[in-house]
Amino acid sequence: EKLYGVSRWSKGYFSIGANGDLLATPDHHQPSLTINIQEIVEEMNETGIQFPAVIRFHDILRSQVESLNLTFRNVINDADYQGQYFGVFPIKVNQMREVVEEVVSAGKQFNYGLEAGSKPELMAALAYNTNKESLTILNGYKDEEYFKLALLGQQIGRKIIIVIEKFNELKTLVRIAKEMGVMPIVGLRSKLMVKGRGKWKNSSGERAKFGLSYVEMLNAVDYLTEQGFADSVKLLHFHIGSQLTDIRSVKDAIQEASMVYMNLAKYGVPLSYIDVGGGLAVDYDGSQSTHNSSCNYSTEEYIVDIVYGIKQTCDLYDIPHPNIVSESGRAITAHHSCVIAKVIGEIKPNSTKFDTSIEQDEHILISNLRDITQELNCENYQEMYNDLVSVKAQTVSAFSLGVLSLKDMAKMESLYWQTLEKINQHLIGEEFIPEQLMEIPALLSSQYLVNFSVFQSTIDSWAIKQVLPIVPINRLSEKPTKIASLVDITCDSDGKIDQFIESNGSTNTLPLHQLNTGEDYHVGIFLTGAYQDVMGDMHNLFGRLNEVHIYSYDDDPKDYYIEEVVHGSNMGDVLSTMQYSSEILANNIKKEIDVKVSQGLIKPRMGVQLTDFYEGCLSNYTYLADDKH
Ligand code: PLP
Repeated sequence: EKLYGVSRWSKGYFSIGANGDLLATPDHHQPSLTINIQEIVEEMNETGIQFPAVIRFHDILRSQVESLNLTFRNVINDADYQGQYFGVFPIKVNQMREVVEEVVSAGKQFNYGLEAGSKPELMAALAYNTNKESLTILNGYKDEEYFKLALLGQQIGRKIIIVIEKFNELKTLVRIAKEMGVMPIVGLRSKLMVKGRGKWKNSSGERAKFGLSYVEMLNAVDYLTEQGFADSVKLLHFHIGSQLTDIRSVKDAIQEASMVYMNLAKYGVPLSYIDVGGGLAVDYDGSQSTHNSSCNYSTEEYIVDIVYGIKQTCDLYDIPHPNIVSESGRAITAHHSCVIAKVIGEIKPNSTKFDTSIEQDEHILISNLRDITQELNCENYQEMYNDLVSVKAQTVSAFSLGVLSLKDMAKMESLYWQTLEKINQHLIGEEFIPEQLMEIPALLSSQYLVNFSVFQSTIDSWAIKQVLPIVPINRLSEKPTKIASLVDITCDSDGKIDQFIESNGSTNTLPLHQLNTGEDYHVGIFLTGAYQDVMGDMHNLFGRLNEVHIYSYDDDPKDYYIEEVVHGSNMGDVLSTMQYSSEILANNIKKEIDVKVSQGLIKPRMGVQLTDFYEGCLSNYTYLADDKH
């Protein structure tokens, strides 16, 4: 538990069972409901669902929607706040239809709506956010078609709020609205001066990509009044960035935004909503800190700061409390899905030994290395390490100059790793380790080869060094004896994960178990439900993963069922995204085989088998299949 920090990042949704299997508790209302993830994996194996695969816990999604809405409701009640909460889920965080359907269904009782940031997202939102009481908030840059779709929504009775991101959009909106004879509901996005903290801090401030400056905001109000749309501005919007690590930026933004709201209200703008955007962070590494993959506040604290912050300003200036909108996406979806992938091998830096015994006429550099290895003891290991590094560098130069042979270099490598191993033995249990020597355990660590693609499944770990919790899904009552980083199966040396939750003082390696022959070892990569699920790319043409959607039974708190299996990409699918046709590919190969058959170089029976094999592969999974032998 300590090694993987499960209780710190999992919000109670995951825990380690007495037998060392990883468990899910997907519904906060039913803490006795536990699902054994290892059992799901076994069932998937039995039904032939290949790994890597995504497991989606729909109950977690529902639970998160409920908990956000209930917390807002409770804080609003406690604060005697006069406005209501109308949350919206930003589709971009996870556009999967099943996710959006589940969020909409769980949010129905709270009039929880959707947010869209592009035309395709709007088309989905229009078709799926059918509750007439909930909001559909429209962000992102817009063209005529976008506005027409939005006003279509309004015509069929939806509460659509069009948020203006740049001044010129207003002109198009006014023109289209007049043509269609619809009075739009408009939101104005403020750039705010206050800056968020964390990776997305440039989402606000004067240089922000989106939003109106204070000058533009006043001009927008005047322009709409001139055009006869004075009554249409109902919402003030801001978003200072995703994954706000420090609660102080939330407080500062609320303070500034509520002053903007108050000033606009006093200016005569008939506002009734304030939209605080997204930003509610996820504590991926469980450190409760302002590190980029963490945050120093709880959801409740975030909500309290929003509600009380707005109330204070409104009361002070005697204006009605607005309804509050928030657009949390990451916090709603991150926990509900995980990627399960199989470790298929170990890459050790020092696995093959070479005979290093003394030879006549041996080069002095090799003898020096042997002396270092032999003379090393608990008193001199730092000095010996310095010598080792320097002699190693000399051997590399000597080899380049033709002084040393390949055999000498093989000896050098072997002696080098032996010496590092010896030094490492001395470091174990030491209270103080000189900085220079701290890299040794990581140098000696293995790389576990995992059947998945970083670029498809954990894109942010590559792009922005996002830490995601990674845990073996069984053997957790057994002490891990290895430390390793993870490498994927793409042909890209960037396809690796070497940033983890801190464990035993290291963030570059993960404690893992020795691989046993004949026994599967799966790791779970958690909190992948926000952005990771949908932003992954097709590097090396590894496509989308197989997915299982898990529900728990209401009447049996120990049981679950796989409600749906969504098949991942097959080879034909991914090739077709790059304009290849399965038919033409298969035909080309068949033609060549036929030629070889006609030349007598391939037997006809073999020719048929090869043709069928190639064709069959087109409908197979893109990831590595388990070897049959
Ligand atoms: N709203 C807007 C305008 C955004 O740009 C974003 C993401 O950056 C979100 C909402 C969702 O933010 P988060 O996932 O941090 O909740």
